Amino acid sequence: MTKLLSRTALLALTPALIAAAQPSEVPAEQIAELRTAALDDTLAYDITEGLTTEVGPRLGGTEAEARARAWSVKRLEALGFANVRVEEFQMPTWVRGEEKAHVIAPFPQELIVTAFGQSGSTGPDGLTAEVVGYDDYAAFLAAPTADIAGKIVFISHAMPANQDGSGYSAYGTPRFQGPRVASERGAAAIIVKSIGTDSDRMPHTGSISFGDATPIPAGALSVPDAEQLQRMLKRGRPVTLHLLMTPRQIGEQTSGNVIAEVPGRNSDAKKLLVSCHLDSWDNSPGVFDDGAGCGIVAAAAKRIMDAGRPYRTIEIVWFGAEEVGIHGGAAFAERHDGNDYHAVAESDFGADRVWQVTTNLGAERKAEADALRLALYPLSIVSGSYEQAGGADIGPLMREGAPGISLRQDGSRYFDLHHTPNDTLDKIDKQQLQQNVAAWVTMLAVMSGGIEK
Ligand code: ZN
Ligand code: ZN
Repeated sequence: MTKLLSRTALLALTPALIAAAQPSEVPAEQIAELRTAALDDTLAYDITEGLTTEVGPRLGGTEAEARARAWSVKRLEALGFANVRVEEFQMPTWVRGEEKAHVIAPFPQELIVTAFGQSGSTGPDGLTAEVVGYDDYAAFLAAPTADIAGKIVFISHAMPANQDGSGYSAYGTPRFQGPRVASERGAAAIIVKSIGTDSDRMPHTGSISFGDATPIPAGALSVPDAEQLQRMLKRGRPVTLHLLMTPRQIGEQTSGNVIAEVPGRNSDAKKLLVSCHLDSWDNSPGVFDDGAGCGIVAAAAKRIMDAGRPYRTIEIVWFGAEEVGIHGGAAFAERHDGNDYHAVAESDFGADRVWQVTTNLGAERKAEADALRLALYPLSIVSGSYEQAGGADIGPLMREGAPGISLRQDGSRYFDLHHTPNDTLDKIDKQQLQQNVAAWVTMLAVMSGGIEK
């Protein structure tokens, strides 16, 4: 019966409607028009300003993140997107406590410290121990375990600032691996030089994983405080530190992904997914990381919606709980199939200009990847790899087979602000933010399968 009805319905379709259900090429003039108009965008800034002012910090799993979801649903509905909803999930939740570091001897003074997410606690009285310091991660690994047991380990590094942000993976090991290995080697606690490129007294937090090791207090000193401690250690006398960190695990809490759509002409066609993460660390309003990303992708999708009906449905996903373990990305991939997507992309590297496009659409879609590059050239975006793209939250979907696109932002000052209290609205350069919206609307237009009035 259902089949019969659908056949009758199909016969009733006018030729124009049948044509609407087919993908078409997007005329270069239409792309150019969308791209140019987006250079005057104000919506991405408005969303970023609103979220980071009216909600502020929004740590995954907390009541603040729930307020961010409610704010987002209201905002996305008001913008006219379809099917705005929250897909909730549960996650183990960590919250910060007090944090202080005080050099007892030989040069008594305070140092500025912050705990990493998942850090263990010193207990309310703190702990006092000798500091053993290493200039880099390799020196820490080479040190005898007997030197480390019962001590507070300090690890430094020499991370440079660079456009592609590659310093983060190259020099981030003291945070990514240090806490687990220090615990396995019997350290009482670990503090590392912030994984950052600034010279402010702003410690950079971030997530860590202990694996099967016992959580120990683990945190970051601001860059100048780390250098201060290093100078004390170089003087050759034992340095004793009192460390107080009292974070807590508060058990399973609710988080969620906020989803909105620009409905396509063909609901069976593979979709486009554009995304950011809605949560932030608790120590800042999370403007560069990642309020701006949410503003950019929503503003770009809104421009397509206002231009007409795309062939493909555009899904906007503001992922929950990325910072604290990519819980939102994992939950989304459990409920959705990576193979349902024509392309997926995430904006999560600040608000400065896009300088490069990379894709992994597959060899058979080289022409489409080239068309995308051609359309982005007028924004001074250069071509990168045809076999690499990604993003933390879209990673699980891509592992299921979703093809990815990366619009890579200039990271030269990203790690000055990253995960610090300094990640605030005044850092936004509106022109660079607008160039991002132009890049994203261009990408959506090229991949849309045609936009019809
Ligand atoms: Zn981020
Ligand atoms: Zn982050």
